Amino acid sequence: MKHSILILGGTAEARKLAERLSGDPRYRLELSLAGRTLVPAEHAVQLRVGGFGGADGLAEYLRENRIAMLIDATHPYAAQISANAAAASRLSGVPLLALRRAPWQRQEGDRWHAVASVAEAVAALGDMPRRVFLTLGRQELLPFEAAPQHDYLIRSVDPVEPPLDVPHAVYITDRGPFEEVQEAALLSRHGIEVIVAKNSGGPASYGKIAAARALGIDVVLIERPALPDVEAVGSVEAMIERLVHALPPL
Ligand code: NAP
Repeated sequence: MKHSILILGGTAEARKLAERLSGDPRYRLELSLAGRTLVPAEHAVQLRVGGFGGADGLAEYLRENRIAMLIDATHPYAAQISANAAAASRLSGVPLLALRRAPWQRQEGDRWHAVASVAEAVAALGDMPRRVFLTLGRQELLPFEAAPQHDYLIRSVDPVEPPLDVPHAVYITDRGPFEEVQEAALLSRHGIEVIVAKNSGGPASYGKIAAARALGIDVVLIERPALPDVEAVGSVEAMIERLVHALPPL
């Protein structure tokens, strides 16, 4: 007999956690992805891809598949699925643990401007043309069409299709992690003056933040959304430890 665990993923930590737990004979694992990227990163565990149909659909999935533990290891800006996970846990009675990365903390030399939304980030760029680096998801780029005066460098995992309706935009596709040295070279090569980013936390996308500090570049940082108040741990190690106590041997 094994404990069935469903991990809601789409992050490097979720992948790492799944790979670590998959070698453990006490657990049967499934990792769930939303299906946002055309080709997901390689995973060595059982995958399911696509939405559940809201909190009710997720609750039904948990019951039907006799899941013993739901783990929300989604990105800190994926607020809808985290809310659904909390609601589905209540509806089904299946316990929930969250794996939440701590946000980056401002350091001396950082030129951060906190904003509450993508729309506020667009406004914070100002009226004067600037050279802007955007590292947001494809679906969050559209509001920048309201500020066509800027020169954009846009990096995404998949191509931005259709491209933004702005006269000056350069697109690059790449998948992290991104190191500071390479990020600094990219920012310098494109003469970037300001970055718009999320406070994702973790090391994989911190390179641009460190590079911006070193180069004196402004960062418009979109604040984290509110997430449900559920039991959470801050690292893969802590989650593995917590599971040992939460799921005693069968
Ligand atoms: P979201 O707005 O919170 O969720 C929208 C809907 O997508 C959910 O209601 C759910 O559909 C489905 N969904 C989201 N994550 C899922 C998962 N892991 N497995 C199955 N269905 C999922 O999510 P999002 O911000 O678009 O993020 C989508 C995925 O990308 C997440 O896995 C997240 O970890 C990852 N990601 C997000 C960001 C970001 O900045 N938001 C950055 C990096 C990675 P149903 O209601 O039909 O179940």
